[in-house]
Amino acid sequence: MIFIFGTSNRTKTLASGMFTCPFCHAQRPYERKSTRPHISFYFIPLIPYGDTTEFIECQHCHHAYDPAILSHPTPRLTREARPLADQLNTLKQRLQDGVPIEWALADLTGAGLERTLAIQQVEQAVGRGRKLCPTCGLSYAETRSTCSEDATALQSE
Ligand SMILES: [Zn+2]
Ligand SMILES: [Zn+2]
Repeated sequence: MIFIFGTSNRTKTLASGMFTCPFCHAQRPYERKSTRPHISFYFIPLIPYGDTTEFIECQHCHHAYDPAILSHPTPRLTREARPLADQLNTLKQRLQDGVPIEWALADLTGAGLERTLAIQQVEQAVGRGRKLCPTCGLSYAETRSTCSEDATALQSE
């Protein structure tokens, strides 16, 4: 049996550039893409329906990320990719020691944890309160008072 009508996604490339891929832990070329489901006819996407989603795709590992990743200050990711269990065991300590929230999240999602779960883990470790660095924009656990990157005094959110 041959399906004449089907569904498929039509993906367009909108832009490209360099970013720090949390999975590769390195600077990589990315493409910003949009995808929208289409009704297809003989496998040709024809009629758009549903919402367009945009994502950032690493051209090296082909993992996809939320476009918000580009507006974060370039995270210098922690040296080596640690196994997830290891990271979870040391999360609280690392955040208390001054690892920025953004890096910890990137490390957790890089190790395969879903972003919403990663955020939950961070909140369980150090609560919801954040301090922000006015210089680089990174955020820290509430107990921190200076940015580990540039030694700027942190501000309460
Ligand atoms: Zn990558
Ligand atoms: Zn800073």
